[in-house]
Amino acid sequence: MMETNVTDTFFDALVIGAGFSGLYQLHRLRDDLGLSTLVIEKGSGVGGTWFWNRYPGARCDSESQGYAYFFSRELHEKWQWTERYPAHTEIRKYLNYVADSLNLKKDIMFDTKVSACRFFDDDKIWQVRIEDGRVFYAKWLISAVGCLSAANVPEIPGLASFKGDCYHTGKWPKEGVDFSGVRVGQIGTGSTGIQVASEIAKTCKHLTVFQRTANYSIPARNTVWDNTYADWVRNHYEELKALVRSTPNGHPFRISGNLAMEVSEEERNDMFEAAWAKGGLRFRGVFSDLLTSEKSNEAAANFIKSKIRQKVTDPDKAEILSDIDHPYAAKRPPIDTNYFETFNRENVSLVNLKADPIKEIIPGGISLKSGDVRDLDVIIFATGFDAMTGPLLSLDIEGSCLSLKEYWAEGPRNYLGLAIPGFPNLFTITGPGSPSVLSNMPVSIEQHVDWITDCIKYCVSGGYMRIEAEEHAAQNWTEHVRSTAEATLLAKVKHSWYLGANIPGKPRVFTPYAGGLVTYRKICNSIVRDGYKGFLLDQKTTQGPKMTFDFEAPNVTNLGV
Ligand code: NAP
Repeated sequence: MMETNVTDTFFDALVIGAGFSGLYQLHRLRDDLGLSTLVIEKGSGVGGTWFWNRYPGARCDSESQGYAYFFSRELHEKWQWTERYPAHTEIRKYLNYVADSLNLKKDIMFDTKVSACRFFDDDKIWQVRIEDGRVFYAKWLISAVGCLSAANVPEIPGLASFKGDCYHTGKWPKEGVDFSGVRVGQIGTGSTGIQVASEIAKTCKHLTVFQRTANYSIPARNTVWDNTYADWVRNHYEELKALVRSTPNGHPFRISGNLAMEVSEEERNDMFEAAWAKGGLRFRGVFSDLLTSEKSNEAAANFIKSKIRQKVTDPDKAEILSDIDHPYAAKRPPIDTNYFETFNRENVSLVNLKADPIKEIIPGGISLKSGDVRDLDVIIFATGFDAMTGPLLSLDIEGSCLSLKEYWAEGPRNYLGLAIPGFPNLFTITGPGSPSVLSNMPVSIEQHVDWITDCIKYCVSGGYMRIEAEEHAAQNWTEHVRSTAEATLLAKVKHSWYLGANIPGKPRVFTPYAGGLVTYRKICNSIVRDGYKGFLLDQKTTQGPKMTFDFEAPNVTNLGV
């Protein structure tokens, strides 16, 4: 456990969370603006989502050369990733390296959970209460809690009766889990389940995968970097920085300008084959219209389904795994290392929950509607998160009039994903309505943190005590987020966590911004140029209620997905 001696109660700024967002925000506010800043972090170390996601096989789907900060050449040049995709252990090492290099840990209070945040309008100050009852105050409150930090364990009848151990992948024990000789049941086949199954199958006695919705997955083709490539990355800081800031999704590769239906079938298949051989999220970039044209998407979907059928030797399993009901990449597209091949192992079985749903969990395993019982010693929930709004709502935030829970009763509403009407001086890094999960996160995070820092600097230097998003601006932005998603196949999937559909009772609102990072950055910059259009500064409106966004409509080249 990290020691932080916090004796003060009043700060200029409080930041909640010490992942990629919180660390960079602390650095900018403390070291560039000279503000007294405290970060409050639930975990006992830095890492944010990567502090908790330690399940076997946990590895980022973004490529290492782009999954990093780009604000400092020195940090870039003194660090070396070792593989094409960074493993969770290496990401924590990297974030510790950054935190130590910038001497950040002394201003982070670890092992501390926020229980409530209240805004006092008379004093224009935020009060943050932590679980032991202590309170801290600050003029500026910044949420850096991430999008995927509130674990979702479905309420399956009988769960409490299970005699074995249960784990959620997003809250994995630090000391790890030994699966040798154990019968494991895994519920969930999203990006996480697809990573974890192939690793656990190698060591456990038997793995039963309970699949509700079949999923696409592209081979990741992870490799260890050789020294030549590592040197190239170290020596190409400016080029990489410019690249990730110029691509619509913040990844370090370009999306092709080709349309899938504008080439012959033979050419199309050759291009899919080449992209499949390259592997990873780059597959999506082979054509620019996979998320805007149903026909193009169907071609990609059929290609992947045929690959699944080739990989899986048991025809029944192959059928269940390739019976996918949604367009490719309209749900978050996973990438894998031998996921489908894992079902060829003798110690791996597959249960199709679409045909035979779970009836209940019993002391010795899982019982299905058909009466079939699977005996288990361990259940792994790879069942995802109450994404995007969940982590924010868990902070019990109360603004000048309403609680966030009340204000968002019908779904998230905010301005640029950054600020919420009625919640002055609060900023949300990668909040709902920002590109966040549809982009390479560190690149989105840097843009948000820089924007927030500039905004706070503007308020401090202008003598403004209070800044608040205007209601009409939030309404317009929320409508823009919705209509942007509607222009793509993303909105065609009704059962996706992008929409909140994985959480019973959660309002169905398409939450991330699908207009792409480049477009989004332009919009954010234009709002600054226009004197923080859409914000109230010290109660004075900065413009009239009519508002449109100066952006290009989503098209094949600016889609950030
Ligand atoms: P997820 O995509 O929400 O997948 C959850 C899985 O659990 C789905 O297969 C879902 O089935 C299943 N499930 C949920 N409740 C269930 C129930 N009651 N009964 C049976 N099955 C149930 O969650 P995730 O895989 O953790 O991924 C979440 C996100 O985290 C990803 O989309 C990605 O953005 C991020 N992530 C990133 C990486 C990376 O970069 N390497 C790795 C992992 C995760 P349905 O589809 O039928 O609901």
